[in-house]
Amino acid sequence: MTTFANRVEQVSISGIRKVFEAAGDDAINLGIGQPDFPTPAHARRGAIEAIESGLTDAYTSNKGTHSLREAISAKYDRDYGLEIDPEDLIATSGGSEALHLVLQAHVDPGQEVIFPDPGFVSYDALTKIAGGTPKPVGLREDLTLDPATVEEAITDDTAIFVVNSPANPTGAVQSEDDMREFARIADEHDVLCLSDEVYEHIVFEGTHHPPMQFAETDNVVTVSACSKTYSMTGWRLGWVVGSNRRIERMLRVHQYGQACASAPAQYAAEAALTGPQDPVDEMVAAFEDRRDVVLDGLEDAGLDVPKPEGAFYVMPKVPEGWCAEVLDRGVVVVPGDAFGANGEGYARLSYATGMDELKEALEIIDEATQAVR
Ligand code: PLP
Repeated sequence: MTTFANRVEQVSISGIRKVFEAAGDDAINLGIGQPDFPTPAHARRGAIEAIESGLTDAYTSNKGTHSLREAISAKYDRDYGLEIDPEDLIATSGGSEALHLVLQAHVDPGQEVIFPDPGFVSYDALTKIAGGTPKPVGLREDLTLDPATVEEAITDDTAIFVVNSPANPTGAVQSEDDMREFARIADEHDVLCLSDEVYEHIVFEGTHHPPMQFAETDNVVTVSACSKTYSMTGWRLGWVVGSNRRIERMLRVHQYGQACASAPAQYAAEAALTGPQDPVDEMVAAFEDRRDVVLDGLEDAGLDVPKPEGAFYVMPKVPEGWCAEVLDRGVVVVPGDAFGANGEGYARLSYATGMDELKEALEIIDEATQAVR
């Protein structure tokens, strides 16, 4: 008799898809979790040239090509003055695989993983797939994660706590003080801090501060990717950075489950990281303009909306029946409870869509909001 693993039976397919399926073909989609910009030309060329010269015909080193790992290492030095040995990172199939590796390598059955609620849907699912116990914790009123909340939730069974800044689904950015606190908590409680930084370059106010900068032990691992920064979600290229002993454990999972990240994607990523960064600046400027328009529109509609400082999401508080009313009128938004129980009463709107569509959507949202009041 064949059976299914309990770990997997506990996980269901993400509810976000169902919202898209319920929408008509001409609906305006504010449910999207990826930038609506093309991959920079120099990144594409990096892959094309590598393919044409036969460089992509074979497996690369399990951790990724040395030149890509040097480019990732140089990025951390350039952006944060962090010295990362190219041996202390693995190129992965997107940030998603990187998150999976961290959990697989560090969580035993029965151990707990603390993560923000509302938060990115994968933290709960990947914890269960690793055999761990999800421990979602609520956010501050401004939708940032309070280090004190994390510290209170830690028990002898805690293996990992997840920090995600800028955050999906809230767009919230953690302050430098918070990041210092997360590093201190990881050090003092001897618990691993998993810092998910896939939106690290999409910040409008303040600066992104990786907690790895502040930790005195190796109790912080950092996950990031080309996906959002370079509009490369389809390429599937991310990475995980950690101490040698942690990377060695994660490599055991990666080596047997994945062998190596796709070679063409590795060459595209190397070109993206080492080439001109202006396409990133242009994209971030466009996101900031849209953020301002969306924020004004939602406030004018009378919604209470914490100001998001990064990523490309906004998460207003919404009255009961609001999401259904908005969807009925042709705008796709994701109900907040798709991101955890504490997301109830909120909705996530993505502004990774053109300005004209956004303005049209805001008019519809205004009407829908008046209708459900
Ligand atoms: N982490 C967060 C917070 C995300 O929002 C996403 C994707 O939406 C990921 C990780 C995964 O990124 P990738 O597409 O690189 O797998």
